[in-house]
Amino acid sequence: MTEKLMTENSNCNNCNGHNDRNDYIETSTGKWEVVIGLEVHAQVISNSKLFSTAATEFGSSPNENVSFVDAALPGVLPVINSFCVDQAIKTGLGLNGHVNLVSRFDRKNYFYADLPQGYQISQYKYPIISGGYIDIEKDDGRIRRVNLERIHIEQDAGKSIHDQSPNKSFIDLNRSGIALMEIVTKPDMRSADETSVFLQKLRSILRYLGTCDGNMEEGSMRADVNVSIRRPGADYGTRAEVKNVNSFKFITAAINFEVERQISLLENGGVVDQETRLFDTSTGQTRVMRSKEDAQDYRYFPEPDLPPLVLSEERIETIRKTIPELPDAKTARLQHDFDLPHYDAALISADKETADFYERALNSKGTPTKDFAKMLANWMLGELFSCLNKSGKNISESNVSAENLAELINLIKTDVISGKIAKEVLELMWDSGKRASEIVEEKGLKQITSADEIEKVAKEVLTENESKVAEYKSGKDKLFGFFVGQSMKKMGGKANPQVLNEVLKKLLSET
Ligand code: ADP
Ligand code: MG
Repeated sequence: MTEKLMTENSNCNNCNGHNDRNDYIETSTGKWEVVIGLEVHAQVISNSKLFSTAATEFGSSPNENVSFVDAALPGVLPVINSFCVDQAIKTGLGLNGHVNLVSRFDRKNYFYADLPQGYQISQYKYPIISGGYIDIEKDDGRIRRVNLERIHIEQDAGKSIHDQSPNKSFIDLNRSGIALMEIVTKPDMRSADETSVFLQKLRSILRYLGTCDGNMEEGSMRADVNVSIRRPGADYGTRAEVKNVNSFKFITAAINFEVERQISLLENGGVVDQETRLFDTSTGQTRVMRSKEDAQDYRYFPEPDLPPLVLSEERIETIRKTIPELPDAKTARLQHDFDLPHYDAALISADKETADFYERALNSKGTPTKDFAKMLANWMLGELFSCLNKSGKNISESNVSAENLAELINLIKTDVISGKIAKEVLELMWDSGKRASEIVEEKGLKQITSADEIEKVAKEVLTENESKVAEYKSGKDKLFGFFVGQSMKKMGGKANPQVLNEVLKKLLSET
């Protein structure tokens, strides 16, 4: 494949896409469009498993959390965990889906050593949630709606461990029977970047909802990535499915590899086979795992050990009331109520912990003003984030609490300290854990606002720099900054900048 470049086409007349503008990949043979659909497995936050009372705790010793049901001993029966069902309903509502009052469990039959039942209890024809969508924002501000096909609940399998012995495999059934939500999108994404933004937003919403912790390292969120390519306007191409990719980095790498592979296949007269592939993290490549199975290979049939799942309207409405304000709504509100720039509002809202921190700070000093809200956003996203980055901490581990950050902003706003001094104060707060006012008091950092006091110093500076004053008067305006700098230096940075400016202007026009 030759040179690749992303182009935009604002008048693509015949494509099955959902936006009038699409990103294409251009090669020597023309344009290609990438089509991506995801099946995201999200582990439900719940203390016990979907059909048993065993614990779900991550990091327990192998086979510690295994009930007879999870080990599929003969004669035991699954009992549905209604909390997990509530979590799925909440997720469906939070993702704008339709909750089906009747859904059903089916057996998906396949053999694997870590699946003792020989089948997975899942939902097939009648999932608990139908439809739904997430709107994602592209770098250039365009919105793409990624529609959801469905969300269904199913049990997870155990884990096979192949790397602990040269000639044995081990089975850990702790994960066996843990509730998963499988969130299936329509093939609505058009690039690796969009896919990554979609997943981040999905994860953010699930965390707001408290239905999945989205922790990809621990495997509580993983995705099967379906990739195909087509010429703009053509029907969908044949897809390859890359199984179980568990980090943003790998998902991007897997998509990019697949796109290159498929383009080169098609451009050289080959065809893409519908197959299931594995992403090899050490080579960054995907390779065939098996040819794609069809639904009939799984011999789906209704699960005879469980009745249909019937929900009442009241139950759904009760859950609807527990849905918190979600990222998009929060972004819009912060923009509307406080005139925050969209970028800042979206950045704050994208992560629940960040949003909580911001709002705690915002409301810690009574009813917040727009000014205060904006300054707080700047200080949090700028100075505080830089402290967090330097120390490798996330916001819930911040050395400076939300309340203390708010106090610092207040000291600036009420002219007790200047913004410049405040940066020093924040660093001292970070290192000592002390409150802003304590540090200002201890170190004598209060701003000097008395015009008399400032004038005394400014006069000194002008006297010491007579030649520069003369230059200034003959038109070298830039020197004003020099006088400000020198006076500030003499006052240890504590002069109120506005007062100092006024005083200097006055003195320079007098003499
Ligand atoms: P299965 O469960 O067998 O993998 P589904 O029909 O449920 O099959 O589709 C799975 C995923 O494949 C969905 O996320 C869907 O968006 C995606 N998909 C379907 N067709 C294509 C295609 N041509 N290119 C990319 N993704 C596709
Ligand atoms: Mg699939």
